[in-house]
Amino acid sequence: MPEESIVLPRDFSHNLADYESCRHTFDWQLERSRLDGLPGNRGLNISHEAVDRHAKTELADTIAIRWVGKDRSVKDFTYADMHHLTSRFANALVELGIQKGDKVFTLTGRIPELYIAALGTFKTTAVFSPLFSVFGPEPIFQRLSRGDGKILVTTRALYEKRIKALMDRLPLLRFILLTDEEADIDEKVLSLPRLMEEAYDDFFIPATDPEDPALLHFTSGTTGMPKGALHVHNAVLMHYVTGKYVLDFHRGDIFWCTADPGWVTGTSYGIIAPLVCGVTSVIDEEEFDAARWYSILEEQKVNIWYTAPTAIRRLMRVNLAPLEKYDLKSLRLICSVGEPLHADAVRWAEKTLGMPILDNWWQTETGGIMIANYATLKIKPGSMGRPLPGTEAAIANVTETSIQIIDEPGKQGQLVLKKGWPSMFRGYLHDEERYNKCLRGEWYITGDLAKIDADGYFWFVGRADDIIKTSGHMVGPFEVESVLMEHPEVAEAAIIGKPDPVIGEIVKAFIVLKAGLSGDENTQMDIIGFARKKLGPAVAPKEIAFVTELPKTKSGKILRRLLKARELGLPEGDVSTLEQS
Ligand code: AMP
Repeated sequence: MPEESIVLPRDFSHNLADYESCRHTFDWQLERSRLDGLPGNRGLNISHEAVDRHAKTELADTIAIRWVGKDRSVKDFTYADMHHLTSRFANALVELGIQKGDKVFTLTGRIPELYIAALGTFKTTAVFSPLFSVFGPEPIFQRLSRGDGKILVTTRALYEKRIKALMDRLPLLRFILLTDEEADIDEKVLSLPRLMEEAYDDFFIPATDPEDPALLHFTSGTTGMPKGALHVHNAVLMHYVTGKYVLDFHRGDIFWCTADPGWVTGTSYGIIAPLVCGVTSVIDEEEFDAARWYSILEEQKVNIWYTAPTAIRRLMRVNLAPLEKYDLKSLRLICSVGEPLHADAVRWAEKTLGMPILDNWWQTETGGIMIANYATLKIKPGSMGRPLPGTEAAIANVTETSIQIIDEPGKQGQLVLKKGWPSMFRGYLHDEERYNKCLRGEWYITGDLAKIDADGYFWFVGRADDIIKTSGHMVGPFEVESVLMEHPEVAEAAIIGKPDPVIGEIVKAFIVLKAGLSGDENTQMDIIGFARKKLGPAVAPKEIAFVTELPKTKSGKILRRLLKARELGLPEGDVSTLEQS
């Protein structure tokens, strides 16, 4: 393993002064005591910690959210504004009959209403579930129906384009709240501005057990449709701790998380963590654009920037000399998550942005950052860093029924986490079996392969399953293959992630056409178009190859691993289970 390491200058008083001593003395109870809790000992509610408690202090007039619109117009929301707006939203939900545990979904771009809806929903003890606005109708339908969505907040355009045709298939969906309509469309499709206008701007948060569900985030599985990972209000403790020790939030900081809340990072760190820590969170409505991003860093005087490897690789490709062109002096920390951050990206940032990027690792199920590089710990470029104080990570050999921790540095195995951190998911909605499958005794099996070195640093190796990461999105093969099979000419389909220098992996499909058909370029375009329409461009395959058969196990399971090895010209590995044709 590389010996290279980087040490950041110690010219700032970081919250995590000394990793080792913090690890030894860390106490979750003590950290919990730094949160407020609902007045009257009535529990712990995310929105009280993130908004209401600050609105009663000197932070009331501090900007909680600075929203930058596509046209660069800026809207500021102070903690006091957020207190009132989220209260209005909560009152509107109650008025519509929403109760504890009901699921409130959003399907919007990064508009202020999304953030207000999230925090307003937490207040009512209903469960918030954000969807990516780039999803096509099929992934939207799967998630809304599996998640028992009762309310959907969306825009008129998205409603017309993606939702209207699904309404008959979603009997549980009671109301659609349109963010950009002044008047109701009918008794089911309502105007959110009207509801907000009519609602009272103070809300009494009901008693909230820390174990009450708060968030539902869908993630992809290898077999079957997306899984809804359920998180509870107690997760806010993790958001607070990681905001403090990993993102190093200090009062007065300006923080920018580029992630969309459709992905867990955009919720845990694009909404909750910065507000819990009382800093100002910048939100950009627009998608990636290198010049725009650098100018936002400059104009908004961003101190801490949290982004993802796909975006970093895009920045690396454009020939901008940011330090010559932009004033990035406010920037103190850059962190990244979501995919492997290769050593060259860390070094590029050191040279081009004036500081290395600190990689960290976590996933939908963990609800918060679990392994990280810290400003005060030496960085080994290419490593995900070390476990968050208060948590334990290890490498293990895992079988169907057992787990054996590997103590030997450098040995590859499954990355596992000791159960019990506050933001650990509490289950997959309606799927206890799948939840139990990823638990062995006191350990949670992450599905990733990794190694640990002699200094306790973790190194990502790959996924232990067939899940694809494309532009930071988790794509489950089954979901895509099911849609491809609906195409009238497709008999069988299998997808793999094909390595791509910018977006990590592209989705490539191998397709067996129905008997007597032969595929040409037009068929390829037709199938890609069909998949894009149903799945949305972020999920649909970008490449298609026609094959006469797919490699399968004797029990009929498609061997995607073999397809991938063949595509990449790699050794085929153990093919003893391969069906002989
Ligand atoms: P998601 O649940 O969509 O956030 O995806 C989680 C998965 O993304 C993890 O299980 C990893 O496979 C991958 N991932 C997240 N962070 C990193 C990282 N820092 N390095 C490598 N892979 C990562």
